[in-house]
Amino acid sequence: MTPVVDVRNVSFAYGDSLALDDVSLTVEQGDFLGLVGPNGSGKTTLLHVMLGLLSPDSGSVELFGQPVSEFEAGERIGYVSQKATDRGGTMPVTVRECVRMGRFAHVGHSRLTDDDRRIADEALETVGIGDIADQQMNQLSGGQRQRAYIARALASEADLLALDEPTVGVDAESRDEFYRLLESLNQSGITIILIEHDIGVVTDRANRIACINTELYHHGDTESFVESDALSEAYGKTGEVVHHHH
Ligand code: ADP
Repeated sequence: MTPVVDVRNVSFAYGDSLALDDVSLTVEQGDFLGLVGPNGSGKTTLLHVMLGLLSPDSGSVELFGQPVSEFEAGERIGYVSQKATDRGGTMPVTVRECVRMGRFAHVGHSRLTDDDRRIADEALETVGIGDIADQQMNQLSGGQRQRAYIARALASEADLLALDEPTVGVDAESRDEFYRLLESLNQSGITIILIEHDIGVVTDRANRIACINTELYHHGDTESFVESDALSEAYGKTGEVVHHHH
């Protein structure tokens, strides 16, 4: 089967500072990939390269078997960036309007049928924010806003959901609920790539782990990651203490 994401020998530098050094990995359909590593280890950079938001200095990236450069933004992919919890930059639209925009992205024009509106409303229900559909996006809590962006991705029928530390600033209870939602979306067939600094949260849920610190220290199933020294090696390189809030 064609991988959802195929990263081959990718290197990337910000000026003289190498952020990714010869990283290769694949994400298969249905995977729940946890992307872990210390602060500043290149996780966000790798995710941006995977989604075509940054072009690698060398190496190649394919999404769904196509060069990433030929991929239309927004098509088949939902991305919830680190900034999604921020109020700043949020468009002055209601939650329902935001989710319908995902449907626009899917149908490719701005006239939605009743079916399209129903699909958008179902996405709101799936992520549990049907009751706040008429609120403004900038009035939501960080956690609610994350859900709205996920609903938008569902409305666009995204096959891949990429999330960069989606629960920063979200309380523990909402966080557990949020991760249950991700698990059920994954069980319904959506491929997930998750950056999360709390290792326990990732190893409890992901079936695959990529552990990086500029170079790739582990890429494979979660069990073999837990049994390996990859994490301490990756953290040892920068001397940061591993986060285990579990
Ligand atoms: P992580 O997501 O693991 O915290 P990042 O991918 O954000 O790591 O960053 C990797 C490295 O690249 C860090 O050393 C960071 O300081 C640097 N970096 C990230 N973004 C930029 C940028 N826009 N310009 C220069 N350096 C950057």
